[in-house]
Amino acid sequence: MSFKSKLPQVGDTIFSVMSALANKHNAINLSQGFPEFNCDEGLIESVNSFMQKGFNQYAPMPGNLSLREALAIKYTARHTTSINADNITITAGATQAIFSAISCLVEKGDEVIVFDPAYDCYEPAIAAYGGKTIHISLNYPDFSIPLEDLAAKITNKTKAIIINSPHNPSGAIISNEELQAIEELVLKHNLYLISDEVYEHIVFGGKHHISVLDYPALFERSFICYSFGKTYHTTGWKMGYCVAPHSLTKEFRKFHQYIVFSCNTPIQMALAEYVPNQSYQELPAFFQKKRDLLQTALSGSRFELLPSNGTYFQLVNYSAISQENDVDFAKRMTIEYGVASIPCSVFYSTAEDHKILRLCFAKNNDTLIKAADILCKI
Ligand code: PMP
Ligand code: GLN
Repeated sequence: MSFKSKLPQVGDTIFSVMSALANKHNAINLSQGFPEFNCDEGLIESVNSFMQKGFNQYAPMPGNLSLREALAIKYTARHTTSINADNITITAGATQAIFSAISCLVEKGDEVIVFDPAYDCYEPAIAAYGGKTIHISLNYPDFSIPLEDLAAKITNKTKAIIINSPHNPSGAIISNEELQAIEELVLKHNLYLISDEVYEHIVFGGKHHISVLDYPALFERSFICYSFGKTYHTTGWKMGYCVAPHSLTKEFRKFHQYIVFSCNTPIQMALAEYVPNQSYQELPAFFQKKRDLLQTALSGSRFELLPSNGTYFQLVNYSAISQENDVDFAKRMTIEYGVASIPCSVFYSTAEDHKILRLCFAKNNDTLIKAADILCKI
């Protein structure tokens, strides 16, 4: 039977492809972004104990109230916008938060601006609703936002802009100047913003994560998407949340309640107790040590290291080694040398190839050293 796909361009994601290739060839997997180490034992015990105590049925549709209150306290203390539990919806990962936000916004013919290299889940959701993704390449090599180009690409069909900071795959962090300019454009043209802030706690060099929650007027037209997976080393739990003003949250929940209805009860109960301990304060130093270890171990290699100011990714340029395209080179590096990475051209609509690979350093130190030893011999 032939089936007319609404998403004809979509295949397996590069993360699935490279992880499968790494497994097949027993390679060190620095491709898909997930920690190699476990989350806090105490958090596991807490989830387990809520299960044992019988908290195994549906959570409330918007999420556990204590968890939403704990998050509201956290964000109100950290940023200039004050929020409460009614601004927060607990989702099945940031992916579902992003999908639900796009569901609220995009109608047939709408344009949504995204910046390449872009995380892979934005465009298929836009396409599913008949929207058109307008791609703008970030400036290379600092991955800043080309503000003039952004202003020029706004039309009367533009509905929303999607931003991501700290940025996957580049590790770039949005500046106040960029966010101010985006605020002006959003307000001037009555647009909406989806801000993907899943790596909010992974910023280096004493820098601060600048959030849309620091821009109250912009927040009024924004959905901010977060991931417990990144903050607590629990990507496999698929838990996240969306923070939005009340009017947008009301609409968001109309979709949320029919996409998933509600999310995992015992995990929400455990997180409600866990969030106030502020363990996320340790993340910058924890991941910066790993970044530094990898950078030092690669300093004698032929790979050129690009700056990594946030996230758990390091970009490396291999043009001193090969002129192959990055997908072929990444595959060959996995098969012949045993180190898997992500080729960055897949994050560009035009497959822009700067000969760059993304290495994930959310790995044990011995894994990073082993991988770097191999990379130094290439
Ligand atoms: N946005 C970005 C930039 C990501 O890197 C990821 C996941 N790694 C997500 C969204 C999705 O997060 P989650 O796993 O919570 O769905
Ligand atoms: N966000 C992770 C990454 O960038 C991958 C998540 C996934 O496999 N969908 O590597």
